[in-house]
Amino acid sequence: METNKSSNNFIREIIDVDLARGKNDGRVHTRFPPEPNGCLHIGHAKSICLNFGLARDYSGLCNLRFDDTNPETEETEYVHSIQEDVKWLGFDWQERLYYASDYFEKLYEYAIELIKKGKAFVCDQSLEEVRRDRGTITETGKQSPFCNRSIEENLNLFTRMRNGEFPDGSKVLRGKIDMSHPNLLMRDPIFYRIRKVSHHRTRDKWSVYPTYDFTHCISDSLEGITHSICTLEFEVHRPLYDWILDELGIHHPQQIEFARLNLSHTVLSKRKLLEFVQKKYVSGWNDPRMPTLSGLRRRGYTPESIRMFCDQIGVARVDSIVETVVLENCVREELNKKVARVMGVLRPLKVIIDNYPDDQTEEFDCVNNPEDLAMGSRKVPFSREIYIEEEDFREDPPKQFYRLSPGREVRLRYAYFIKCVGIIRDEETGKIKEIHCTYDPMTRGGDSPDGRKVKSTIHWVSNSHALNAEVRLYDTLFNKRDPNDTKEGEDFTVNLNSKSLEVLPNCKLEPGLKTAVKGDRYQFERLGYFIVDAIDSLPGKPVFNRIVTLRDEWAKIERQSKLL
Ligand code: ATP
Ligand code: MG
Repeated sequence: METNKSSNNFIREIIDVDLARGKNDGRVHTRFPPEPNGCLHIGHAKSICLNFGLARDYSGLCNLRFDDTNPETEETEYVHSIQEDVKWLGFDWQERLYYASDYFEKLYEYAIELIKKGKAFVCDQSLEEVRRDRGTITETGKQSPFCNRSIEENLNLFTRMRNGEFPDGSKVLRGKIDMSHPNLLMRDPIFYRIRKVSHHRTRDKWSVYPTYDFTHCISDSLEGITHSICTLEFEVHRPLYDWILDELGIHHPQQIEFARLNLSHTVLSKRKLLEFVQKKYVSGWNDPRMPTLSGLRRRGYTPESIRMFCDQIGVARVDSIVETVVLENCVREELNKKVARVMGVLRPLKVIIDNYPDDQTEEFDCVNNPEDLAMGSRKVPFSREIYIEEEDFREDPPKQFYRLSPGREVRLRYAYFIKCVGIIRDEETGKIKEIHCTYDPMTRGGDSPDGRKVKSTIHWVSNSHALNAEVRLYDTLFNKRDPNDTKEGEDFTVNLNSKSLEVLPNCKLEPGLKTAVKGDRYQFERLGYFIVDAIDSLPGKPVFNRIVTLRDEWAKIERQSKLL
């Protein structure tokens, strides 16, 4: 991967100052700390690129750490998929793969230390009572009736909590901080809860589990992290992060918050994405419409394009919604230079060229990529019966529609000029069945012999040579730019786009595509970029996903002609 430094941002400025002052002995050590309760999405990519990118640019290190303190929602399956996704994005944690659960013993010891310092106590209140007594922003909280237990009693009870002597929910360990602290999270927060459930790694060893706030700062500290980068919602947690490390007197990383990525027309929340999967709105976490990294990968996005996107959107401290088109432009920009162009017809309309010899086949030399002639050319067969795109013909063309229509001449890309001379309809439905044309043999290769101009060039595929294939077109998952913009009482699912997937089972593709294998990408001229689906394709029977449309003149003309 390229080693270009990413663009400057406020976090880099903080690190530059730290380095200039000799803080952390000049080390930069970050971490990416996913909770294995779902697959990674493009928002996580922003965090991955940031954390691993800083390590790369400052000759530092970045750990991958599974934040697995929540035994109920976590699964090993996600642990694997997260590693695969981080690697696919092009980053390497080397030997530094950690689990917060590896620290359970140490965390427990630190909890004991806080109890011994009189800074933590066992509380018998229920979660509801804790919440009720916490107070509000305007009202101070009420002290727990258990906050004055002796250190000995606390040690005894906490040990017995660990030993499984008390039922779930009957006791918690709380920090003893300040029930009138302006920050509600500092009002004697919960550090441990009793959960007699099996954990994906420690199995049944523990019956108490530490909370996120207690675990995260200590994990960072144990790993020698210097800059603990997280999203803005953790800003209010920072005083607690600092309090715990200060009380324990251990290595103290600096927590820095940045704005999370929001992408238009989709949601970036594992909880909601899991709902899509469970309710079968999509075919799985890797459905090509999902904003997950596995979905984007299957859709045909490249790691380079996602890194380019993360670099372009930058890192700031203000929340905003980034348009999906910014992501699309990144993949367009990359694929434009890299992938071969081919011809494929998605909605075939048969064209018969009346004056072309019935038994003749010609091969035309077609350039693979005009942006890069070193990519060479290929031969594409042409014959009397071809397919063109249904929308490239209008019987009654509106103004500004320059493609094929009765009496009009157009250029077939790389082949000949043809002119429409007749229409055959299905007798029952009246629908156009085929078009009859004549060709001008003098225009071979698509060149005009006499300076005669045609206003349009269209793509085509020879009928007898065509590869029949299924092509899947995708649109955004949601109709609304902000899917959470709903009327009262409505769920965000009301904004789901019912037309987000269109399956075209009978597309006609140029025959060279028979040898396409899973993961191959092409530009279908005028139609966009496509990838051979990694799951549903069979040998010799590729299924294509459209990665993204082209942004070109054709699209504009199409839009205009629809307006007319
Ligand atoms: P989600 O809301 O999708 O469940 P999360 O924050 O619960 O996300 P984690 O697994 O805890 O998911 O996230 C791992 C890291 O990725 C965290 O540091 C988190 O701040 C970061 N992250 C998560 N979502 C985004 C996002 N949309 N933009 C940038 N960073 C994100
Ligand atoms: Mg989280």
